[in-house]
Amino acid sequence: MLWWIASAFFAWLAFREVYYRYVPRPGYPLPNPESSIAYGVVLALVSLALAYTPIRYWLFERSLTQKARVLSENTIAHVHCNTIADTFFDRNVFAVGHAQFETGRIVLQYPWCARLMEHIRRPERPTDEQLFAMQIFAHEAMHIRGERDEAKTECQALQRFARASALFGIPDDVGKANGLNYYNNYYQSRAQHGEMSSQYYSAECAPGKALDERLPDSIWR
Ligand SMILES: [Zn+2]
Repeated sequence: MLWWIASAFFAWLAFREVYYRYVPRPGYPLPNPESSIAYGVVLALVSLALAYTPIRYWLFERSLTQKARVLSENTIAHVHCNTIADTFFDRNVFAVGHAQFETGRIVLQYPWCARLMEHIRRPERPTDEQLFAMQIFAHEAMHIRGERDEAKTECQALQRFARASALFGIPDDVGKANGLNYYNNYYQSRAQHGEMSSQYYSAECAPGKALDERLPDSIWR
């Protein structure tokens, strides 16, 4: 929001600069010949530069929303990327993401959308955080699909890791490798961790076990 306000302010300055070159200011008989087109252009460029970040995120949110609808099989899904300012007003600020089934609203906490963008840009070798970002996105989509139990939600998301990746144009083998990396190296270690972590874990989340949905595009196939 602050970016938009700053951008609009500079756009207004730019407009004013050019406008008064041709139109007299109120109370003046003639236009101001000292108004500079070049200065107006500089102000317009500043305005565009300030708008770049919010426009980029706005487009990314639209793309995430469309993909979340496919993944969750629910057309009410919509995704919001929290800015730092948003986090001050977010009651679930300590969760990396959250989703509300009733409204379809998914919120990814700052800076997880940026990490997901990086994952999509370089999917072959994501950092840990970039890897988690894809799983978090899929996890929240599974809540909108209707699952409330955290361990089941996490397992459903895991099995759809490659499907989620493919929605972003990531090749199937890369998506599966990333999903298996998450499953083998991070998911399994949760079993030994404390209460908070283990609520997202189930020993039944494994090929052929109770939580295996036997999806044709599962990371296990
Ligand atoms: Zn959850």
